[in-house]
Amino acid sequence: MTIVLVIEVIRIGQRLVRDDRVTTHVALVARAFGATKIFMTEVNPEIKDTIEKINNTWGGNFVVEFIDNWKSIIKKKKDEYKIVHLTMYGESINDVENQLGKEKNLLIVVGAEKVPREIYELADYNIGIGNQPHSEISALAILLDRIQRGEQFRNSFSGAKRKIIPTRKGKNVLVNETRN
Ligand code: SAM
Repeated sequence: MTIVLVIEVIRIGQRLVRDDRVTTHVALVARAFGATKIFMTEVNPEIKDTIEKINNTWGGNFVVEFIDNWKSIIKKKKDEYKIVHLTMYGESINDVENQLGKEKNLLIVVGAEKVPREIYELADYNIGIGNQPHSEISALAILLDRIQRGEQFRNSFSGAKRKIIPTRKGKNVLVNETRN
């Protein structure tokens, strides 16, 4: 069983417009796979509104925080959190997943374009989800699943207006009319 207490994510280097959808999806994956917060630069304020609407409908208190300076966040968190940088150049997730599962608080760093060299030094772990280039969305999803071993899907999202009852065919959704 995992003993990770808090998982947060920081998105570094979003490119204007081009990365909006990917950044939104990074935030959605972080929320759905058990992280509590994402830090990102305020390139597009609508991303925060989108995630707040998702919280409102589907529950939970996932937080989007806009930041000016990624380095100061990482340095501030470093005392209490292990910094986990996702990079195709890193050591294999297969070799470190057990160790990661024993850590308490994790700040996961994902890039967009080429990340500054300094991150490799600031990180406690540089981790590759395989050593081929793919996507920060898939890398984050797989990392979160490996760390929590699927247990994240047992989390309940409090205050939801809608809750899905898993079903073999069709859609079964409980609607809580008392929420607005
Ligand atoms: N060429 C860029 C570089 O050198 O950093 C890769 C950019 S990639 C589109 C964006 C982000 O996806 C990376 O910063 C990393 O966080 C993540 N990523 C992509 N492939 C990965 C892999 N195989 N393992 C871990 N993370 C990966």
